Formats: sequence, C-alpha cells, structure tokens
Amino acid sequence: MMIRELDIPEDIIGFYEDSGIKELYPPQAEAIEMGLLEKKNLLAAIPTASGKTLLAELAMIKAIREGGKALYIVPLRALASEKFERFRELAPFGIKVGISTGDLDSRADWLGANDIIVATSEKTDSLLRNGTSWMDEITTVVVDEIHLLDSKNRGPTLEVTITKLMRLNPNAQVLALSATVGNAREMADWLGAGLVLSEWRPTDLHEGVFFGEAINFPGSQKKIDRLDKDDAVNLVLDTIRAEGQCLVFESSRRNCAGFAKTASSKVAKILDNDAKIKLAGIADEVESTGETDTAIVLGNCIRKGVAFHHAGLNSSHRKLVENGFRQNLIKLISSTPTLAAGLNLPARRVIIRSYRRFDSNFGMQPIPVLEYKQMAGRAGRPHLDPYGESVLIAKTYDEFAQLMENYVEADAEDIWSKLGTENALRTHVLSTIVNGFASTRQELFDFFGATFFAYQQDAWMLEEVINDCLEFLIDNDMVSETEDIEDASKLLLRGTRLGGLISMLYIDPLSGSKIVDGFRDAGKDAVKVTDMTLLHLVCSTPDMRQLYLRNTDYTIVNDYIVAHNDEFHDIPNQFKETDYEWFMGEVKTAMLLEEWVSEVSAEDITRHFNVGEGDIHALADTSEWLMHAAAKLAELLGVEYSSHAYSLEKRIRYGAGLDLMELVGIKGVGRVRARKLYNAGFVSVAKLKGADMSILSKLVGPKVAYNILSGIGVRVKDKHFESIPISSNTLDT
Ligand code: ADP
Repeated sequence: MMIRELDIPEDIIGFYEDSGIKELYPPQAEAIEMGLLEKKNLLAAIPTASGKTLLAELAMIKAIREGGKALYIVPLRALASEKFERFRELAPFGIKVGISTGDLDSRADWLGANDIIVATSEKTDSLLRNGTSWMDEITTVVVDEIHLLDSKNRGPTLEVTITKLMRLNPNAQVLALSATVGNAREMADWLGAGLVLSEWRPTDLHEGVFFGEAINFPGSQKKIDRLDKDDAVNLVLDTIRAEGQCLVFESSRRNCAGFAKTASSKVAKILDNDAKIKLAGIADEVESTGETDTAIVLGNCIRKGVAFHHAGLNSSHRKLVENGFRQNLIKLISSTPTLAAGLNLPARRVIIRSYRRFDSNFGMQPIPVLEYKQMAGRAGRPHLDPYGESVLIAKTYDEFAQLMENYVEADAEDIWSKLGTENALRTHVLSTIVNGFASTRQELFDFFGATFFAYQQDAWMLEEVINDCLEFLIDNDMVSETEDIEDASKLLLRGTRLGGLISMLYIDPLSGSKIVDGFRDAGKDAVKVTDMTLLHLVCSTPDMRQLYLRNTDYTIVNDYIVAHNDEFHDIPNQFKETDYEWFMGEVKTAMLLEEWVSEVSAEDITRHFNVGEGDIHALADTSEWLMHAAAKLAELLGVEYSSHAYSLEKRIRYGAGLDLMELVGIKGVGRVRARKLYNAGFVSVAKLKGADMSILSKLVGPKVAYNILSGIGVRVKDKHFESIPISSNTLDT
C-alpha cells in the first residue's frame, strides 16, 4: 500500500515521501485496513523499528484534520522529548504540538491550544486529577509501550489513566503500541481494539548464542576471530572491522563502565586518525561538563571510540554519548538495560553480556524473555545495516542449549496487571473519589471493574483491596463516608480537603499521612525542626527512593544520628534491627540532600555517597516535589513549617543556599557560578546591572559575562562583547 493512497492531506503525503516513506510497511498497511484512519481502536504489537510512530502520526493527523485533538502517552520523560521533537516536524502543516513536563500539581490549561500533546502517564494522571480543561476534548489517545502495564512501578498508573480516559471520552479512538507479548489479544480485547500482531521487521534480525569460537544461529554459524581472551571484546572488534557499531548490555553500572574500559584499549587500535580527532572533541566536552571522576573515565573511553551509558550519568553526558553514537563516531556503548526500554539507538550488533539480574529475594535470576527481546530488538539500523545481530554468550554447552531454548527460540511471556495490591491502588482509589469517578463503594468497584486487572483476573479480588484502601483513607481523614441525605440506605464517599490536596499534589496517600504525622509530632516531641528534620521527613515517605546502606556507612550514619538526635522524631529502637536500618537509609538519603543544598560539589557528593551525578539530580527532583507537597500540607494544617519547607524546596531545586536564590534565577547561572559572583560582591541582580564589565568577564569569562548581562536585560554596548554569541546553560556551572 502506498502512502499516496491514504486519505490524508496532499502536503503531508509529500512530506513523508520526501523523507523516504513511500510504501507502507506490511504491519502499517494492515493497521490501515483494520480502520486506523476510521477511528477504530487498535493495538499494534509489532517489533522495534517496524514503524509504530508513523501509525500514531497518521491516526493523529486524520483526527486533527477532522477538528480533533490527540494525546500521546509515553512511559519516560526522555521519550516525551524525543516524540515531541519528532512531531514538531509537522508544524509547517499547521499542526501545533505541546509537551507536558511541568510540575505534577499544575493543570497546564494553556497546553490545550495544541493539536498534539505529549505527556508521560504520571503527568496525564496528574492532569486528570487537577481537572485540566482540555482533557475531555481529546479524540485520539495513543499509548506508547503499553506492555509496561506489566511494570510494578509504572503499570498501575498507566492502567488507571487509560481507564479514566476511556470513561471520560468514550468515543475517543485508542491506539495502543506494544512490543510483541504473549497475550496481546487479551490486551486488545480489554481495549475493545482490533489487533495488529506481527513479527515483521524492516531489517532482518539474526538472534544467536556465542559458544566456542562462533555465534550459533538457528541453522547457521559465524566464526569470530579470537584476538582477545574476552569473548565479548572479540565480538565487538569483529563488528567494528565490518563497519558496524555495537551495543553491549550489562547488568550493573559498575560492569558497564568496567567493560567499556576493557574494550576501549582494544578498539582504539583499529580507529583511524580522523575519527580519533573527532572523538577527542566529544571527550573534551564530556570532561568540561562534569566535575566528577566519571567524567574523566568516560572522557578517556570516548577518546578510544567507546562509551558507557546508565542512569548515573548526568544528562549532558548522556546526550553527548547518544549523539556521538548516532554520528557513528562512538563505536560501542556499554549500557545498563534501561537503554533498551528507552531511547532509539539501534546498532548492527547487540551483545547481551549478562542475562541475569539481581533480585533482592532470589539472588541472581535470568531476565524475562520480553526483556531479552527488547534488547535483541535494538539490533539493526533500518536502511543503514544489511541486517542486525543479537548475541548471548555461553560458557558451557549446557548453558548454550538453555540460552537457545529459553531466549532465542522462546516467545515473550504474557503480561500481568500489577494493580492488585494496596500499595498500587491506594492513590488511585483516592483520586477516583476526589475526581468524581465514583461516589459510593459500588461505583468504586464498578470503576476498577473496567481495569485490565479486572479483565484479566477476577474483579472480586480487587474489592477486598479497595476496602482496605478505603479503611486507610477514612482513618487518615482523606475520605469521608456519610449517609446520603436523600437515601439513608446509601453511603456516600467524598474526598476531604486533605484528601483533595494529596490527590492534586500527586503523592501517595501514605506519604501524605507520614508528612502530616511528622508535622503533628514535631511540636509534641520537643523536636528541634531543622533542615535535616524536614529533609528526613520527605526521605521517609514511600515516594522517595532511599539510598542503600553500605557496610562502611553504618558508623558514619549512626554517628550522625547520635549527634543530631534532637532533630529527628521517633527514632526506632536500635535493637529492632530492620526498622533501625531502614531509618538509617532514610537519614543517609537526607544527608546527601543536605550536602546538595549546602553547595558541596557534585564531585564530593558522588564520592561520599557512592552515587552518580544523574542520581543526585534524580534525588533532588523527587525531594523537591515532596518538599513542595510538605509545604502545601503545612499550609493546610496551619502549622508553622510551611515557609521553611518552601525555602528548602527552592534550595533543593538549585542545590544552593538561600542567599543565592536571586542569582540562580538568571539564565546561564548555576550554583557554582552564582557563588563565585556572590563572593565577588555581585549579590543581586541590581548589583550585576551596575557591574564593571572587565571585572565581571575576569570572573566568569567574557562569553558568560555577556550572556548574564543580556539575560538580565542589560544592553552590552562594548564592541568586544557584541560579537559573542549567546550560549546555553549547563546544569552545575
Ligand atoms: P518503532 O516506533 O516501531 O520502534 P519507528 O516508528 O521509530 O519504529 O520507525 C523506525 C524508522 O523507520 C523511522 O526512521 C521511520 O521514519 C522509518 N519508517 C517507518 N515507516 C516507514 C516506511 N513505511 N517506509 C520507510 N521508512 C519507514
């Protein structure tokens, strides 16, 4: 089927043809035949790179031309920006695109002016909770990576969000996009959708297992030269010699960097000079945008054509690595499996060095087939590679036979809803009541009866959990249950002011109750309320990811607790070991944040806490949001800590003291630069406006001085400064 035959505007057809899309891929053609452009609900369960995005675009374009509006739901923020950038290419055809990444308690009504809105599932849920005006105007909902319904963390929110959207806009078209999973039909039936199920790929994928001296594919073999004692290194060198690139998946961040280091010395030997010069340019940038040991190690690897990639890297390093790989300069990325779920970075050969993952209950466990297929599916760049190869590595014949049977020749598992626990449901029961989706127990059962959990398992199993959630919410004054004035036999559920606020703030009600109790007890226990008290309070909530305790941490954290014991309320008894250990983990996390807001350098924090820069920013992000929630809750309760919490919220955002808040508000000024300016006497915007140019440029360099002054509205007349272009900001400068 040709794209020209489709019922979409001529200029957009031209746009696709110019970009090389003339004929639809077979699964795309099938989707059209099944009614994609006639508002039919569809689930497309097809492999990576088989053109799911185009399906979404076609459905959205059609809907928009008919006066509709589309919502595109993604699982990760990084993916939201990737899709946003892509859809913005449709702007010349009058299609307006917006992205919703803002605070979780905002309504973002202004976004409604767009035709396509890209948002994560959490953000969509929060927009629904905050009563965003344009939600009921949505006529097409695209749900990307819907197989994540199976994820313990993200699945329940995704599931409830879809259920709410289908309830709110029963006539909206739903297009769900999924990896190939065992029970795609079941998911499609739940959505009332037609199913496009296919294994078709634009580039052939050869899956195999390396054992002995060769990659063994079903029915064929490929011998690999043994140049090194490490099989994975040999596989890498073989790929690069054949002009390909490699992705290596490792189970941990440490192994990830370790393999990159090992491989880099070998890869360096087969790079030409031109490539080395360009790589040095990327490495210099990496080294200049980070203050940590990681930046140095990463820089060194990149000079040799190799990089590593995981959530511990800061975002500018991640971008530099991704771009270097896309430009085919970096030949190998050694990565944790998060890369497989997220970004679109295909490579000729994917090497899965570790197919086991640590599980806190069962030790090292083999990964699910679905996860393996996601990694393997990254092999083969469409239109660039003749084929893609994924390779597992076996040490013994038995292992080889098992890997063949359990991964290469296996089908992906079924996905299972994770909604059925009190921890997953509590927040959704509250929001369902607060937003008026249900006002009696029966309506609540009915609402959750429309979820995938209820479709897949038995609805009655949910009733008991829902009742447990209600008991918690009523006990904690978040929901009231009272007799209906008109019908005494009917009990009505209503969100209280506290419940309403907690739902809008988008925090777990258990976090809400911990914060509320913390505030109430602070007065009683004669606790001194310091920065640490509030930081620990937010770190003790289930919404915060606490740091692990290493053996070496015990004494340091324990000494801290002893020295600061009047700043914590309710310190668990040391003889209750698990409780006390848990508490120490919370305090350790709060100690990291205390260093962050006290302007300790990122380099020192990464050393003290054995984390990456990316982790510091992730912890700061979450705690900023929770501190904001704490401030709002303090306001509602009428306790005195709200202004303290608001100022900590700001300090967490910028990682700086209160005295710097005015300066860090200027574009291009991060906490380090702000302190430098402050110490030199430029303590405010007003002082900067009157700055002597030569002093300022001595302090921060002429380029930055120019940017700072332009940023605060000073017209720089000096000839020397006028020729300098404005550059963008980095995180920690
Ligand atoms: P998926 O979302 O399924 O992983 P994408 O939608 O990102 O895959 O598509 C992968 C690549 O294939 C993109 O570069 C896209 O432009 C291209 N593509 C999609 N459909 C076609 C087509 N019919 N003909 C040629 N290229 C296509």
